Amino acid sequence: MTLVAVSKTHPAEAVLAAIAAGQRHFGENRVQEAVAKWAALGPAAAGTELAIIGGLQTNKARDAVRVAQVIESLDRPHLADAIEKAAQHEGRGPRLYIQVNVGDEPQKGGVATAEADAFIEACRKRFGALLEGLMCIPPAEADPAPHFSWLAACAARHGLAGLSMGMSGDFETAIAHGATRVRVGTAIFGAR
Ligand SMILES: *Cc1c(COP(=O)(O)O)cnc(C)c1O
Repeated sequence: MTLVAVSKTHPAEAVLAAIAAGQRHFGENRVQEAVAKWAALGPAAAGTELAIIGGLQTNKARDAVRVAQVIESLDRPHLADAIEKAAQHEGRGPRLYIQVNVGDEPQKGGVATAEADAFIEACRKRFGALLEGLMCIPPAEADPAPHFSWLAACAARHGLAGLSMGMSGDFETAIAHGATRVRVGTAIFGAR
C-alpha cells in the first residue's frame, strides 16, 4: 500500500519536511504548481515519486510527463493522445491510472461509468503495462463504500492491480476495499 502525500497548495518547505520524515510519494493536482514546487525542492526532489492527481489539460501533458512519474487522471481519448505523444518526445512514459467518475457527477472529471470498460480496454492496448490501475473520487456526501467496491470490481475485471482510492476522510474504508494507493492531504499537511 502506497501512501501518497497530497501537497497541493502547501509550499516546498512542507514537502521538504515530509521528505525529511521519510515520505517519498507525493501528489499534486496542478501541473504548473508541481513544476515550480519540484524545481524549488532542488536535490531533495531526486528520491521522490510524484503523481499528478488532478484534471489534466492536454496542453499540460508534456509538462506533466516531465515532472511526474505517475498520472492518475487519465479520463479521455484526447488526453491519452497527448500523453502518448509527450511520452514519445520524452522517451519515457509515466505509469497511468484511469480516473472513473464513479458517481457520474457532471462537475467531476473521470470517464463515465458506462464508458469505463471500453476506455480501459483502449488504454490497455495503447499503453500496455504502463496502465497500472484505476482511480476514483466518490461523491462527497455519499457512503463511499459501494463506489470503492465498484472500482475494485472494475479493476479486477480488467486484470488491473492498482486501485487509487481513499482521501483524508475515507482512507480506512478505501483500504478495507482493496486500495493500493491512498491520496491523503489534509490529514498530513493540515487544512488548505
Ligand atoms: C486534494 C486531493 C486529495 C486529498 O484530499 P484530502 O481530503 O485533503 O486528503 C486526494 N485526491 C485528489 C484527487 C485531490 O485533489
